[in-house]
Amino acid sequence: MAGTVIKNGTIVSPEAAYKADLLIEDGKIACIGNGLSVEGAEVIDASGKLVLPGAVDVHTHFDLQSGDVRVVEDFYTGTVAAACGGTTTIVDHPAFGPEGCPLRHQIDEYHRLAAGKSVIDYGFHSVVQHVDDAVLRDMEALAVEEGITSFKVYMTYACKLNDAELLRILRRAKELGVIVAVHAENHDVIEHMRRQFVREGKTAPIYHAKSRPDDCEAEAVDRIIRLAHLAGGTMLYIVHLSSAKGLQVVKHARENGHRNVIAETCPQYLTLTEDQYLGENGEGLKYILSPPLRRRNDCEALWAGLADGLIQVIATDHCPFHFHREKQLGKDNFTLCPNGIPGAEERLRVVFSEGVMKGRISIRQFVALMCTNPAKIFGLFPQKGILLPGSDADVVILNPQETEILSKSNLHGAVDYSAYEGMEIQGKIELVMQRGAVLAKNNEFVGEKGQGRFLKRKRTGYLDYGVGSAWI
Ligand code: MN
Ligand code: MN
Repeated sequence: MAGTVIKNGTIVSPEAAYKADLLIEDGKIACIGNGLSVEGAEVIDASGKLVLPGAVDVHTHFDLQSGDVRVVEDFYTGTVAAACGGTTTIVDHPAFGPEGCPLRHQIDEYHRLAAGKSVIDYGFHSVVQHVDDAVLRDMEALAVEEGITSFKVYMTYACKLNDAELLRILRRAKELGVIVAVHAENHDVIEHMRRQFVREGKTAPIYHAKSRPDDCEAEAVDRIIRLAHLAGGTMLYIVHLSSAKGLQVVKHARENGHRNVIAETCPQYLTLTEDQYLGENGEGLKYILSPPLRRRNDCEALWAGLADGLIQVIATDHCPFHFHREKQLGKDNFTLCPNGIPGAEERLRVVFSEGVMKGRISIRQFVALMCTNPAKIFGLFPQKGILLPGSDADVVILNPQETEILSKSNLHGAVDYSAYEGMEIQGKIELVMQRGAVLAKNNEFVGEKGQGRFLKRKRTGYLDYGVGSAWI
């Protein structure tokens, strides 16, 4: 195979942005250098454009059953949307399984849901919904034999773990050298406030935000960091950090030497505020997700946290329900509205435009946050998340000169709205490749259903990839 040469672009990694050519052969990056030319190779001219690693989204919920409703995206529509948005790898968070089911039940279920459908490469986190000896034993089997090297726990919702259960999981994870991902909110306080608002007839979407205040996040983040410390310093990954107060807790922990603490935030917490809940015609329902949208100062604090290296990853928490269907369940009572918003297709361009083009983060930080750090943290590096000889040829070519208006009408996902409708974006994704094959070109999907591969992930103690410089 003669391969492909991407010429004259600016290649970006966390360490450098530099002009060079990229040679792709047999689905891998064969060589990076100047003046590369290979007889018979296809040549793509990337002059004036950025050549980025395919983005990695480590927080999606495709084909998720939540109570009586199911997200409107399966592994085909969801990964087509992600691919068109420049994401070539996902690590999906499975739904809860039947009560008391063994740990591997949901992994088997998600293999079934993704195989033959996903158009991009994928892995799964494991979800821990109860704790007993069998669960602790199965964690090892999943981590060692099946490449499932991260375990999700919830401090709220029906399958929340209590503090003793959390401690048992954290201790076991420390023994195994695997990472624990956590949804951190104070369950009891939130449940109390939700009930109280409903009793008082305060059922509009804005009360969703008021029932889950930032102190509930900060308290839970503090508690789980202390439990991870008690467990011996388990590698802890706080998903969807949403508030300045939560970030302050992370900052305090890291300043006090808790280098095991890693944080993720999402584009919605960086760009949207609780004003969205006040939209007319029930539009606020579109933004019911947990944690809720916060205030402008929270957005700015999170951007600063990204720039300072306190937050290592931007993922989406993509969890879409139709505004005109499932979301309407909450029109008279926010507690009945399914939680979640779409974002897999919008993530890269929203963060590029609002972050890089507005000077809040550098282009190198952008690549670290969207590609390299998530790949490192979740055991996919250097196969994914970086453009280096030997890495998979997952490549995005982005033109920073072009602008576009985000709109549902030019997105590919199954859901009936975009949370970013009307946002002006500086930067256009021109080409997306996975393992050397073109997946999307000029906003058109040209890949094949089922071409994505399951990724067995490595175990990665945080010391394996260094702390600090590599993250920013
Ligand atoms: Mn969550
Ligand atoms: Mn989630």
